[in-house]
Amino acid sequence: MDIDFSEISYLVNPCSRTLHADYQQFLLSLIGLTVIDITGENTDEWRVISTLLHGNEPSGLIALHRWLTSENELPKPKTNIRIIISSVEAATHQHLFSSRHLPDGVDLNRCFNEKGIKSSKDDKGKHVDGYIQRAKLIEKAIREVDPTAIIDLHNTSGNGPAFAVTTLISPNVLSISSYFCDTLILSDINIGAMMELDFSCPVVTIECGGSNDDQAHEVAYNGIKQFAKCDSSCALPQDKAVQILYKPLRLVIKPDRKLSFSEHDENYSGVTLRSNIEQFNYGGCCEDLLLGWLDDNGLENLEMINDQGVNVIDNYFKLVDDKLVCNTGLKIFMASNQRDIARSDCLFYVVNNVNNHL
Ligand SMILES: [Zn+2]
Repeated sequence: MDIDFSEISYLVNPCSRTLHADYQQFLLSLIGLTVIDITGENTDEWRVISTLLHGNEPSGLIALHRWLTSENELPKPKTNIRIIISSVEAATHQHLFSSRHLPDGVDLNRCFNEKGIKSSKDDKGKHVDGYIQRAKLIEKAIREVDPTAIIDLHNTSGNGPAFAVTTLISPNVLSISSYFCDTLILSDINIGAMMELDFSCPVVTIECGGSNDDQAHEVAYNGIKQFAKCDSSCALPQDKAVQILYKPLRLVIKPDRKLSFSEHDENYSGVTLRSNIEQFNYGGCCEDLLLGWLDDNGLENLEMINDQGVNVIDNYFKLVDDKLVCNTGLKIFMASNQRDIARSDCLFYVVNNVNNHL
C-alpha cells in the first residue's frame, strides 16, 4: 500500500455524521494520520490522547468513539483535547485491527527517538524513513498545542490486566494512571517509543489489556472520561492507590533461534514457552516456577540486557535439566503466545517482585 507520509487530516469538533454510527465505519472513513480537536471549557489548555500507534490495538479508538458519540452532542472536557489517530492504514489493512503495522512497514512506536531505532537487515526495503517522518508529524502535532498531559492508549498482545508505563514519575502521572489502572511501571527502556520524548508534561502509556477483551475497551473509556473531566487548576486528583514497579527488563530470544509454544517438553530446538504463558501476566511468578524448555544451548538462547548493557539473565532465570524456571520471585508483563510479536519485540517484560502481594 502506498502511504503519503507527509499527510495529516484535521477534524475540529466533528459532527455526528463525520463520526458515523459506529467506530468501524468511522475508522474506514479516515484516510491516514488524523488529528481531532475537541473544544473544552478552558480553551487555553490542551491535553493529548494518542491511539492506534499500533494498528491492532483498538481499545483507544473504540473508547474515544464511544466518548465522542455517547451523548447527543460532543462532550465538553475541562480543557481542549487533541486526539491523534496514527496508524489508520495498518488498522484497516485486510481485517480491521489485525495488523500492528503494514507488511512493508515498521513499528511506528519504535520511530520516535532516532537513537532508539536500530535499522536491522530485516528492515531493508521497508519504508523506515516514511515511518520516521510520520512519527515526526505526530510529535509536531503534539508540540504545537503545548499540552499539559499526554496519554497514549495501547493494548497488550496477550491478555492481562491494564497497567501504565512512564519514563518519569510525578503526582500527575500517578493521578492519570489511577484513572485507568492500579499499576505504574517506571521504564528507562529506550526503544524509540513516543513516551520517551520530552514534552515537558506527563506522558503516560496505558496498556489497557488484551485487544479482544471488552474489559480493556471499558478501562479505556472510563479512563478517558475521567482524564477529560478532571480539573487541573493545580494537581490532578488521584482516583486510587497506584503501585509503582521500577525498571522492567526485556527478555528477548536471540535471532535465528526457534520459538515454540507447548504444554509439554517436546524437545524442540531453541526456546519453547508454556502455551499458557499469558496467565502469568496476572499476579507474580514465584521462584522455581516453570516457564518453558530450552535446547542444549540453554540460557544462551535468551538475553536480558540491563541499563548498563550487561546480560543479567542468570539473575532472573535458571536452567534445571532442560527447564526454564524463575531464579527469583518476579513479575512478568506482556507475555503473549503470538510468535511474531514475541520474536520481533520481546518474549515479555520482567520486574523484580519486591512485594508479597503482587
Ligand atoms: Zn502498542
